[in-house]
Amino acid sequence: MITNTYDYIIIGAGSAGCVLANRLTEDEAAQVLLVEAGGRDWHPYIHVPLGMGKLHERRMFDWGFMTEPEANLNGRCIEASRGKVLGGSSSINVMAYTRGNRGDFDRWAQKGATGWSYADVLPYFKRCETFAGGANVWRGGSGPLGTEFAKTTDPLYPAWIEAAKAAGIATTADYNAACQEGFGRSQYTIRNGRRSSAASAFLKPAMRRPNLKVETRALVTRVILRETSAAGIEYIKNGCVLQAGAAREVIVSGGAFGTPQILMLSGIGPAAHLHKVGINPVIDLPVGRNLQDHLAVFLSFARSQPGPFHRQMRFDRMAFGMIRAWLFGIGPGTVVPGGLHAFVKTRPEIAVPDIEFMFRGVATDVHLWFPVIRPPRPDGFAIRPTLLHPDSRGEILLRSNDAHDPMLIVYNFSQRQTICRSCARASGLPATSPISSPLIGFGVLRPRQAPRTRAMPKLMPTSAKPLLRHTIQRQPARWEQAPMRYWTHRCGCEAPSACASSMRPRCLTSSRVTSTPQF
Ligand SMILES: Cc1cc2nc3c(=O)[nH]c(=O)nc-3n(C[C@H](O)[C@H](O)[C@H](O)COP(=O)(O)OP(=O)(O)OC[C@H]3O[C@@H](n4cnc5c(N)ncnc54)[C@H](O)[C@@H]3O)c2cc1C
Repeated sequence: MITNTYDYIIIGAGSAGCVLANRLTEDEAAQVLLVEAGGRDWHPYIHVPLGMGKLHERRMFDWGFMTEPEANLNGRCIEASRGKVLGGSSSINVMAYTRGNRGDFDRWAQKGATGWSYADVLPYFKRCETFAGGANVWRGGSGPLGTEFAKTTDPLYPAWIEAAKAAGIATTADYNAACQEGFGRSQYTIRNGRRSSAASAFLKPAMRRPNLKVETRALVTRVILRETSAAGIEYIKNGCVLQAGAAREVIVSGGAFGTPQILMLSGIGPAAHLHKVGINPVIDLPVGRNLQDHLAVFLSFARSQPGPFHRQMRFDRMAFGMIRAWLFGIGPGTVVPGGLHAFVKTRPEIAVPDIEFMFRGVATDVHLWFPVIRPPRPDGFAIRPTLLHPDSRGEILLRSNDAHDPMLIVYNFSQRQTICRSCARASGLPATSPISSPLIGFGVLRPRQAPRTRAMPKLMPTSAKPLLRHTIQRQPARWEQAPMRYWTHRCGCEAPSACASSMRPRCLTSSRVTSTPQF
């Protein structure tokens, strides 16, 4: 039975939910309920930027999702992390601040997403941020979200820039401004040495307003429908089933996986599938279809001399660094070990970059060390090529009609655009290979993890051959099974037939869907 009624109910206190809670409660007359399955974001690892390493290693504040075995990745299941805490994924993410290419926004607008061209969204980007580099025609100077350039001081990053120049690849002063393409210093959502999550930036100020109620540790099980109108929600908190009513709108912002799950549990989704799991379909829509994600992989190399971050990982230095970061927002705990992003076209004829490289100056398996007690691992560095325009399409399905059950996540990463092609392209770009002259001295030709597919030699450009040969010599015969770490960017489903550009699901009134490109 509905006990309380609000004007708006927001499901999920992630990036989208926190912004909406802030904006909707600016109207003092509007009563807003924000319902989040996770708890409060009190943990220092969330706020101290370098705590991110432990968050990911232990999958803290994470739903813990895994994909189904991916047929074209040797049946591997890939981590599909999503934040489960105030701030959602913005409380556990890598904090890279990348707006996206203006050409992508403009293409969406041309295809009918009214209001989503870059000219349309730029004022919102600017209004959203306070950029430490200062406001200008592209950047904001007084918004709630803090953004800044990477503060890493590793000489490897300028050397990479030099390698790019030597290879004739452009550099860009600010990839979130006039030109994205090229090699540029990384940018992060960090402010005053702390993670600028959606909860810190948008929700915390709004929580002081009397018209916002935040329910944490509350799992939404369905949207209550009156015919085809959203009337409220049902959720479980402390073992009790509760209901709340929405006089104006229910906003579903449960993230790329949570949103389709909630919609389908409510009877909004592909009718045949809903029947199969025992749910009575109310509105037959292609919810959960067209799942897309940016597959990426870490290419790791040994480093000839330990870099600055590796030295910082000595236990006593790091403990002191984390305390300084937590108490005062200063010191090495506030600096993440990345410094460079590159957006590159692998073929000149394409309109926008199709590969993004992220560079880090430390090995992916770095750990705390202390002389005699725990020896350090050899240092390394890593390049993460990421497919920007994946052509694979997957889907999200319900495992059952129980909201506690994780969904079935199937990406269907295809052979045509698998990671091996991305690796081949990455290794084929001279500026990303340690054999490039400005980089000689930093790295040794010894990839720390081997590529894992036989298709790769055929795809490898000549310039990458020495690197590949070395890999095979070090991991004879077994390199296909080598532990390569895959990564995705947690995008969503694109199903234009399910939702209009106003974010209203078709055939359903009093509701909106706001998560990472859901439709
Ligand atoms: C590990 C990781 C690293 C990333 N790195 C970057 C990066 O560096 N840069 C970048 O731009 N993006 C990054 N992303 C992606 C980015 O963080 C997300 O795209 C963005 O935060 C998604 O926002 P959202 O509002 O759609 O969903 P989320 O922020 O995921 O919010 C959804 C919220 O809904 C809640 N929820 C879900 N189901 C229910 C339910 N049934 N009941 C109640 N609550 C529910 C969840 O607990 C969560 O809090 C990363 C993501 C992850 C997971």
